[in-house]
Amino acid sequence: MAYQVLARKWRPRSFETLVGQEHVVRALTHALSTGRLHHAYLFTGTRGVGKTTISRILAKALNCETGVTATPCNQCSACLAIDADRFPDYVEMDAASNRGVDDMAALLDQAVYAPVQGRYKVYMIDEVHMLTGHAFNAMLKTLEEPPEHVKFIIATTDPQKIPVTVLSRCLQFNLKQMPPGHIVAHLTRLLEAEAVPFEPGALRHIAKAASGSMRDSLSLLDQAIAHGAGKVEEQAVQDMLGTVGDDHLYAVLDALRAGDVTALMAAVEGMEARSLSFESALQSLAALLHRIALVQLAPTALTDESEAARLAPYSEAFDPEFLQLAYQIVIHGRDELPLAPDETTGFSMTLLRLFAFRPEQPAGLGGVLASGGGEGLARAMPVASRVAAPAMRTPNQTAARPPAPAASAPDPISAAPRPVASAPVPAKIDVSPPAAPAVFSRCSGAGQGCRTGCGNAGFRQQRAAVGGFASRSR
Ligand SMILES: [Zn+2]
Repeated sequence: MAYQVLARKWRPRSFETLVGQEHVVRALTHALSTGRLHHAYLFTGTRGVGKTTISRILAKALNCETGVTATPCNQCSACLAIDADRFPDYVEMDAASNRGVDDMAALLDQAVYAPVQGRYKVYMIDEVHMLTGHAFNAMLKTLEEPPEHVKFIIATTDPQKIPVTVLSRCLQFNLKQMPPGHIVAHLTRLLEAEAVPFEPGALRHIAKAASGSMRDSLSLLDQAIAHGAGKVEEQAVQDMLGTVGDDHLYAVLDALRAGDVTALMAAVEGMEARSLSFESALQSLAALLHRIALVQLAPTALTDESEAARLAPYSEAFDPEFLQLAYQIVIHGRDELPLAPDETTGFSMTLLRLFAFRPEQPAGLGGVLASGGGEGLARAMPVASRVAAPAMRTPNQTAARPPAPAASAPDPISAAPRPVASAPVPAKIDVSPPAAPAVFSRCSGAGQGCRTGCGNAGFRQQRAAVGGFASRSR
């Protein structure tokens, strides 16, 4: 038998095996079992989320020889014929290539005749937003009051382009994008059934690249099996997709966590040596920071358990505010990439900015969660106080020193009273807190603006360039 691509071979044939669209399945199952059937359904959703699949299952449910049922038998001649795409009463029309009023008229002419073999004539019109205005008008009357034996299923990736007159005549279902966890689980089941050896990490890359489309993920999986000569390995999949391996990004995070600027620059060099795209690296880094923030604040949102476990140490090391700031630095760094002297410089500068703004100590320094939220002003303060920390290091100290609490740090400066860093910040204080003598002395020495918010214009401009994180929250 000829090879059949995975997306077709593994197309779900019943509502139970359909992945990820439980809300639609529940509504349709209920309607089928109680006999309350609408005559026109509209399925919306991006490519490869199951529009055609649901439509075929629905056609079987309506025409199965065991009767109208939510669980078609998949064995009778009607079910088999619909699966094999040769059932005379199930018509799939692609509106992208049959978009004119004549095509629609021909379809509607046929609709008045009784079904040849089945109980219902089911018309599935895909990409319905491509129809011309005249074609839409031609179908309105029939769509409102079709003959008893006709059911319409219309599907689109772009519901905005469908006239309201059509929308109001249909029962609308929005199909959801597949979460990566669902895709990974489905691909795992499928590869086990196909007896193809695989590495779980590879499937995560595929799920990410498919961006919510199950069909895309299956096509990529086909490609990966061919690429890997019968097995699916993480490294091979990364090469195939041309993605930056997450390992580099984790190396960046590790360096930030350890306060190790040498390791940070080594990560840049490693990526440059492999000519990886810095732009997509920044994109992935932003996505990674987002997921770490999710682990911290909304752990249930992350369905992939192994990923959650991998991100857990970072969610403990970085506090919520730093993650917000880091996210902004990274997306702005991506914006600025074309302006940089060259991509490497732009990328490396963005990482250095992350380093300069990182918190000195891992546990929340009067963190936003501990203080119960507080005012916007109060939130801004810890950032300003934390960014002061890197300025206090001498260059040869940076690499080796562990992220010790500020109070026990060996710096001579920190022996001076540091109300900015350690004391709880009163909510009403303005950007210019009563600066400690140590802060003043550093400020006058630096010349290019104080990073503690003592009012020097240089610092304000710097913060604005980072994305107004501090100034917007005020
Ligand atoms: Zn059947």
